[in-house]
Amino acid sequence: MKRHLLTAALTLLSATLFSLSAQPKVIAHRGYWRAEGSAQNSVASLVAAAEIGCWGSEFDVWLSADGVLFLYHDDEMNGQRVEKLTMAQMKDYTLENGEPLPLLEDFLTVAQRYPELQLIFELKPHNNKEQERKAVEASVKMVEAMGLAERTEYISFSHNACLEFIRLAPSAKVYYLGGEILPKRLLEEGFAGADYHIGVYKVAPKMVEQLHKLGLEVNVWTVNKEQDMLWVKRHNLDYITTDYPELALELYK
Ligand code: MG
Repeated sequence: MKRHLLTAALTLLSATLFSLSAQPKVIAHRGYWRAEGSAQNSVASLVAAAEIGCWGSEFDVWLSADGVLFLYHDDEMNGQRVEKLTMAQMKDYTLENGEPLPLLEDFLTVAQRYPELQLIFELKPHNNKEQERKAVEASVKMVEAMGLAERTEYISFSHNACLEFIRLAPSAKVYYLGGEILPKRLLEEGFAGADYHIGVYKVAPKMVEQLHKLGLEVNVWTVNKEQDMLWVKRHNLDYITTDYPELALELYK
């Protein structure tokens, strides 16, 4: 009997110590683009995120008018909706570090070399919902074919795209970015958790606890100030998405 009590006490103690030492996992927002020779959503930013020891690297994906998945953040390129452009029309576009616009396939080929790095795949909301559905389908197919399904998590501001990811990749973690869906509904719809702006949690700090009680995880964007990074740790968020991953890694060491 005494022995059982001792075992229980030790288990409780180690669980407490573990939870005290748990640190938010650091995700580089659009890769570690502030590194030398890097740029947002570039192959170099993925490599740089892996090299400084980020837990994950986030990137933005679109489907071109001719059905090719590529990395790019904004809705427009030279005044035109990117989803209406073909790859041929975008061939002269270069990133700030001189890289050509990365095709998702080439980007994921490099990701295969960094097996420790989690891939935080953001699909941009497409105006054309049929194209968005095709984008989800093509994304899941490519990630699975390249053997990256186990370390790819999907995020989107498009609720519709998220539900498609949940349907087509039921074992993948999917997080909604928009901020207005309450924890209970996220659970019911099959989400792994919330990935909301820090302002959402600051206005309703109880939400973090509610998400955890439901077994959901909590990510946050885009946290760049040291005081906010400390807030994130104090409130036990599971992940942090930041443009300053080197600072977060240092703080959470
Ligand atoms: Mg993004």
